[in-house]
Amino acid sequence: MTKANFKDYGIHNKLLKAIELLDFQIPSKVQHEVIPVALQGKDIVVKSQTGSGKTAAFGIPICQLVEWEDNKPQALVVTPTRELAIQVREDIFNIGRFKRLNVLAVYGKAPFSHQEKELKQKTHIVVGTPGRIIDHIERGTLDTSGVRYLVIDEADEMFNLGFIDQIESIILKLPKKRTTMLFSATMPEDVESLCYKNMKDPVFIDIESENLTVDRIEQERYTVDESNKKELLKDVTTVENPDSCIVFCNTRERVDAVYSMMKRNKYSCARIHGGMEQKDRLQIMESFKLGKFRYLIATDVAARGIDVDGITHIINYDIPREKEAYVHRIGRTGRVDRTGKAITFVTRTEERYLNEICDYIEREIPLKERPEKDAVIDAIPSFNEKMSKKPKPIEQKGKDLNKGILKLHINAGKKTKMRPVDIVGAICNIEGMKAEDIGIINILDTSTFVEILNYKGERVFQALQTKPIKGRLRNVSKADE
Ligand code: ADP
Ligand code: MG
Repeated sequence: MTKANFKDYGIHNKLLKAIELLDFQIPSKVQHEVIPVALQGKDIVVKSQTGSGKTAAFGIPICQLVEWEDNKPQALVVTPTRELAIQVREDIFNIGRFKRLNVLAVYGKAPFSHQEKELKQKTHIVVGTPGRIIDHIERGTLDTSGVRYLVIDEADEMFNLGFIDQIESIILKLPKKRTTMLFSATMPEDVESLCYKNMKDPVFIDIESENLTVDRIEQERYTVDESNKKELLKDVTTVENPDSCIVFCNTRERVDAVYSMMKRNKYSCARIHGGMEQKDRLQIMESFKLGKFRYLIATDVAARGIDVDGITHIINYDIPREKEAYVHRIGRTGRVDRTGKAITFVTRTEERYLNEICDYIEREIPLKERPEKDAVIDAIPSFNEKMSKKPKPIEQKGKDLNKGILKLHINAGKKTKMRPVDIVGAICNIEGMKAEDIGIINILDTSTFVEILNYKGERVFQALQTKPIKGRLRNVSKADE
């Protein structure tokens, strides 16, 4: 962290207010380096450790730079997974809350038509996965002609073989005159050279840290035979007794197998992998973020970017085949200024992967002896006690931002030619109401949603029971009820 203050960057009060409610007291190092440069509209390539606050490092300048009045999307953020797209959308939306920025997430395996409808609204910022972004561009539902900012999060992953063609085809559809920003915790040199192809004199910002992995994460490994992994997992989790843990496996099948074993053994657990229905994936992620269970068994879909408060342990049930994946997986713990522990299981045939990882992170990962039988037996009571207790619920991020905001539903929309000005006009006619008390307005075919800020919702709700909107009395209700 730094001694700087968010006020130093000349950003709008509306953003500062949100930053304060998010409880970001001072800018993190990467934020302090990136925000002023990004505000100047320069192309940048940023390498900074996991959990160091990269999202806000681009989120804040983007929220500052987009013009509220413009109707077309002005910024596009690309992420490798759907879960990350949703998380980043949420983070940016929170920052832009009081500037009333509409931020949408578009991602695959979710209904296209719903996203299409959303994109018809005034949208300032779009966050998405590459495939679905391309679909929307090709079907004409995402207008990219106004995009002035492109962010590629987890950039090295996005420049990998699986994604590079899609990224290039998105870039071809964007205006040439734009700012491009790349972010990741790992940035191989060949990626850096790729940057020059698509960027104008990029500024490289490498947040100097002694190590690629975060020092606050204690790293350990066990040597184990494949046939003994499940027993070892049981012993290690019993002794370690984590509050919250991700167990990473290399394939979906292995996630399913480990999950079944843990479920049988009454662990508080759930699983996530790419073979699952999208709505199940999202629901699991949401529950994990709220602290509803302790163990998430996952493939690398959960390795990058995912930010869950309070993960104490990462277990690599399978050592990852790619060295970068190791850094990202273990980076799900030890976020911001917290500590965490990362434990990796290595079979004898996998030692070369271990060596590659150690070379890459420039440190040894200490070898641990399998826990003694007695130690495991001694640990069982407290393990069982924890497993029988519900985990401590985690507060939703940005909860304070939503205090004092009431969403109203009005039963009139596009079909009756309702426009934002009609809504704003009616509300501003109510005594004590100003335009800045009105949040995001969402006009659908036959209904409209409008947010009332600053604890003034109740007053507006009451007043609109007897005051007309666009010449007629409308049915107005509280949307969340
Ligand atoms: P990264 O992308 O670098 O891995 P994130 O952007 O996901 O990290 O941020 C990690 C966590 O730190 C998030 O929970 C975020 O809300 C929080 N955070 C970001 N900036 C600050 C700050 N200046 N002060 C406190 N917490 C912050
Ligand atoms: Mg990130």
